[in-house]
Amino acid sequence: MFFSDYLSNISWEDTTKKIFSKTDNDVRRALAKERCDVDDFMALISPAAEPYLEQMAALSRHYTEERFGKTISLFIPLYLTNSCANGCVYCGFHASNPMPRTILTFSQMEDEFRAIKESGPFESLLLVTGENPAKAGVKYLSQALDIAKKYFDDLKIEVMPLSAEDYSELARHGLNGVICFQETYNKERYNVYHPSGRKADFNWRLNGFDRMGQAGVHSIGLGVLIGLEDWRTDVTMMAHHLRYLQRTYWRTRYSVNFPRMRPAENGGFQPNVIMSDKELAQLTFAMRIFDHTVDISYSTRELPAFRDNMATLGVTTMSAGSKTDPGGYYTYPQSLEQFHVSDERTPSEVFSRLRELGREPVWKDWDSSFDKTRI
Ligand code: SF4
Repeated sequence: MFFSDYLSNISWEDTTKKIFSKTDNDVRRALAKERCDVDDFMALISPAAEPYLEQMAALSRHYTEERFGKTISLFIPLYLTNSCANGCVYCGFHASNPMPRTILTFSQMEDEFRAIKESGPFESLLLVTGENPAKAGVKYLSQALDIAKKYFDDLKIEVMPLSAEDYSELARHGLNGVICFQETYNKERYNVYHPSGRKADFNWRLNGFDRMGQAGVHSIGLGVLIGLEDWRTDVTMMAHHLRYLQRTYWRTRYSVNFPRMRPAENGGFQPNVIMSDKELAQLTFAMRIFDHTVDISYSTRELPAFRDNMATLGVTTMSAGSKTDPGGYYTYPQSLEQFHVSDERTPSEVFSRLRELGREPVWKDWDSSFDKTRI
C-alpha cells in the first residue's frame, strides 16, 4: 500500500464541505483535546476557528515549548542548479524559459560552502536542485554530499523524487533528510500546474514519501504550495499524509512547510488563492495543536517581523541568509532567483533577533546528531 491508495479514498469536495461546515462547538472540542485527529485539525483551520486565534496561539506556544524548549534550528539552502526538465507553470526555472542555466561544478560548490561558513556557523545545509536527472542526478548529488559533509553535520536535499534505492545510496553519502513539496494534493488540478516533465506524474511524486520511508531517511519534510488550490483542503490532505507516514515509518522525524506564493509582478503566474498572515498564523497554530512533535519550518519567503513573531509561537526551524539562485553566495551573486526572498537579514542578524526574543537559535540540528548515534 502507498499513500496514493489511501488518498484515492478521500474526496477533495467532501473534505472542503466538511471544513466549511465546522462549528464553534467543533473548534472548542478540538481545543480541549490533548490528541487531535484530522477531523479536529479541519475544525482548527476552518473559518469557525478565527475567533479563537489567541487561544490557539497560547496552546501552540505551550506544546512547542514542551517538546522543543525555546530552540529554533537555523539552516541555509544552497541551489546547485537552475537547470530543469519540468514545466511547472508558476516557476521561472521551467524548461521552456530561455534563460541561462547553471550547474555548479564541484569546485564551485566548495567555494559556496566556504562562503556560507563565513556568513554564519551553519551546520545544517539544504541542497536544492531543479529536476535534471541527466546532468544533476544521483551521481552528482552523491559527490556533492561527499564534499558538503566536510563542512556541515546535517545534510538535507530538496531535489526530484527518487527511487528507494537512490535514497539509500545518498544516505550512504551522508544524507540525513529529504524535503519534497507535493505542491497540491488535488489530483485533478495537479496537471494544470505541472503539464510536462517527470513532475507531471502525480503518483510518482506523492509516493516518493513512501520511498523515502522505505529507505529509512531520518527526516522527511512535506509541504504544499499555498496559492494553487484551496489551502484548507490541501493542508488537510497533508495532515492525512503526515499521519499515514508517521504510522507507517514511525522511526522517521517529520517537518512541514507552507510556502506562500505572492502575486507576481511583470505578468508572471498569479496565485489562485492568497493566504493572509492571519491565516498562515492560524494554520501554524492548528498544525502544532494537531501534532506536538512535527518540526514547523518557515523560509525567508516570509517577512522578518512575521517570522520573528511566529518564532515564539510554534515555528521550530528557519532558514536564514538564503540565496535562491545557484551559486548565489559566492560564484554568481547576481543570477536569477527562483523566488524573491522577503527576509534579507544576515544570518547573524536573524540569530541576534531570535536571542532578543528569548529564543535559543542553534546552527545545528540537534535531533539529527541524535539520530546518527541511534543507528
Ligand atoms: S518548481 Fe522545481 S521542478 Fe518545477 S520548474 Fe521550478 S525548479 Fe523545476
